[in-house]
Amino acid sequence: MADEAAHYRRLREKLSTPVQFVKGVGPKRAEAFAAREIHAVRDLLFFLPYRYEDRSRIKLARELDPGKRETVLGQVLQTGEIPVRSRFGSPRQRRMRIFEVLFRDRAGAFFRAKWFHYRSNYLKKRFRPGSVVIVHGVIRVFRDQLEVIHPETEVLLSAESRPGPDRIIPDMGSLLSQVQSGPENLNFGRIVPIYREVEGIYLRALRAIMWEAVQNFSGFLVSGVPPEIAERNGLPGIRESVHRIHFPETGDDFDALEGGASLYHRRIIFEELFLLELGLALKRERARREPGRAIFGSGFYREKLRASLPFTLTEAQQRAVGEIEADLKRSSPMNRLLQGDVGSGKTIVAAFASLQVVEDNCQVALMAPTEILAEQHYRNLSAYFQALPVRTGLLTGSLGKKARDSMYRETAAGEINVLVGTHALIQDPLSFSRLGLVIIDEQHRFGVAQRARLRGKSGRGTGQVPHLLIMTATPIPRTLAMTLYGDLDVSVIDELPPGRQPVQTRVYREPERDEVYRIIGRQLERGSQVFVVYPLIEESEKLDLRDATRMSEDLRRRFPGFSIGIVHGRMKREERDRIMREFREGLVALLVATTVIEVGIDIPEATLMIVEHAERFGLSQLHQLRGRVGRGREPSTCILVSGAVVAPDSRIHREQELTFEPGEGGEEESTEHRAERRLRVMELTTDGFRIAEEDLKIRGPGDILGTRQSGFPVLRFAVFPRDFSILRLARKEAFELVAEDPGLSREGRVAAREMVKDIWKEKASVLSAG
Ligand code: ADP
Ligand code: MG
Repeated sequence: MADEAAHYRRLREKLSTPVQFVKGVGPKRAEAFAAREIHAVRDLLFFLPYRYEDRSRIKLARELDPGKRETVLGQVLQTGEIPVRSRFGSPRQRRMRIFEVLFRDRAGAFFRAKWFHYRSNYLKKRFRPGSVVIVHGVIRVFRDQLEVIHPETEVLLSAESRPGPDRIIPDMGSLLSQVQSGPENLNFGRIVPIYREVEGIYLRALRAIMWEAVQNFSGFLVSGVPPEIAERNGLPGIRESVHRIHFPETGDDFDALEGGASLYHRRIIFEELFLLELGLALKRERARREPGRAIFGSGFYREKLRASLPFTLTEAQQRAVGEIEADLKRSSPMNRLLQGDVGSGKTIVAAFASLQVVEDNCQVALMAPTEILAEQHYRNLSAYFQALPVRTGLLTGSLGKKARDSMYRETAAGEINVLVGTHALIQDPLSFSRLGLVIIDEQHRFGVAQRARLRGKSGRGTGQVPHLLIMTATPIPRTLAMTLYGDLDVSVIDELPPGRQPVQTRVYREPERDEVYRIIGRQLERGSQVFVVYPLIEESEKLDLRDATRMSEDLRRRFPGFSIGIVHGRMKREERDRIMREFREGLVALLVATTVIEVGIDIPEATLMIVEHAERFGLSQLHQLRGRVGRGREPSTCILVSGAVVAPDSRIHREQELTFEPGEGGEEESTEHRAERRLRVMELTTDGFRIAEEDLKIRGPGDILGTRQSGFPVLRFAVFPRDFSILRLARKEAFELVAEDPGLSREGRVAAREMVKDIWKEKASVLSAG
């Protein structure tokens, strides 16, 4: 074992060699690499190609297939800049010029390359007449001529000086075979890796550097996956995998490589996910060993509550209650996520869990992300516990000093059984006498550290960790929940209480706005309440706010007989809460809000929700918003107004890049059209999980979960949903390994142990908090 560890450290050291010392790099290029976060040889080896070109055969012009990506070899005949002759467009567009290069292939046929955005000097120098160039891109036919727009090019032979008109053109055929039979045949006659740009390093040079790195350093790579697991899952070696991803061999499946789905890619992805899951498995193991308090409860209060409810629990609620009940009875602390779509009835489940704890004379802390939500929980729980000798307390920031001090006192004395509150709960002077259960609602608003602090208040001197229940309505796809909350057990409420009417959803466009106003008017006349939601996007916060304010003024003019309120994130909290309260009490008929109302609010009388600029929201977010209506007996409607003109907002652009799919016939779909198509999903389904899966396809897991801020390691290679099946395998192996060898101390596990530490290093708090 000691040997294994020493060996591992030696190899790790080798891989930590600065890139500068790879042949062909040097200090200047090392800087360019550093800008790409490539510092050590290890980083370089894992700087994987983002796509490939099949240059096993370089084609002649006559063999090119329009519409396809092709590689063709040609010699520059001439270059030139051509003004675009167009009577349309802005003055700037009318001044636009095109840089054009005319090529001739080795059979004497012509083709062109064109650039619309370019630096003229650079292109002139690069494409001197006479130079022999590999041109790669999508082939089109324009006015009967073959052309490629913005191709990738590689200059094979550069014409140094300006050639005379009758300069001898080298025989391209022999030039090609000469290059192809050279000692380092990296650029032609094979599947060639294409890397993201490293400033100032041509692809050819980069490939040569990669070749050096792979030749001289991949031998030091160590598998983070223990050998028996790699074998069981049919994974090739890590060294071979890295080699083959950078430099595929003839006959390797091009499409698999390109899609990141080759056996070798899958190997790397498996390791990434395995180490991630291993971290979670270890964290869970650690949490299991913490001393907890087994809480049985007499069942007396719970029976009374059950008998007093005006409804019966759904099967899904029963199941969740049962799972939590069993967890609480164990002496190791519960770590459970209660996941249920908006309106699925999580609060009552929390009430049952709380009573079990109170029956054993322990306390419960319930933390909500906003004051309004804390109040709501307080009100609901107090109502549920009305006939029971259970004392519920409310602790929020707006409590006066005197009231707060007495709340502190009563909590410390154990007189308060269930304390509901906001962040105020984790403020220091508060302590419990016997804290048995912590419930956190809408957890994603709380940091991991806060979670840990609350759990640390379990009661003086007991050293016992309270049970933890996290409630969330974020409909995280099950598969992803496994990754993110891999250290938690999950209860899912996958069923709504009976009699709910699904919210009718319709997408309207800007020109149909009058119809939207008519619908608002009708609802107000009938005495229903209406939400109008505005997006608030950081970069243009002021602008949006102006829009929202203007909107509310406009609505006041249109509906003069009704009281209209506005809430937004820049308001003082008290002011915001006051208006929300008025809305809940029915004093405000129409509420214009930015997304501050996103979570939790339960106002059964609200039956209409309008979402402005709906295209700016993620689908899951829209789903959350929509969940604010449809909570009462009346049927509800949600109207998504899709702005006809999409604002120049960076977040949207990023999203569009990701979603881009050419429509039928290779035509580019317009931005508006795409945004609208996405919104239509909301018309089709009210199933939060399906919506989340859609969202996931569009935005990637990081955006949905905000994992970037949450201290969760960033995934570099795995892509969801593509790699869910690998995730499942990796997770199973990781958890089994920890169950069998919790210290990862047996032979063949040193690398796994060390690498998991490295990966979660800055996240040490995550590992120790859970
Ligand atoms: P969420 O899961 O979104 O927090 P809530 O706990 O606020 O949902 O419950 C939403 C509404 O559904 C509440 O008014 C609650 O009283 C009601 N409710 C909960 N469970 C049931 C049930 N089994 N049958 C009928 N109504 C229920
Ligand atoms: Mg709730």
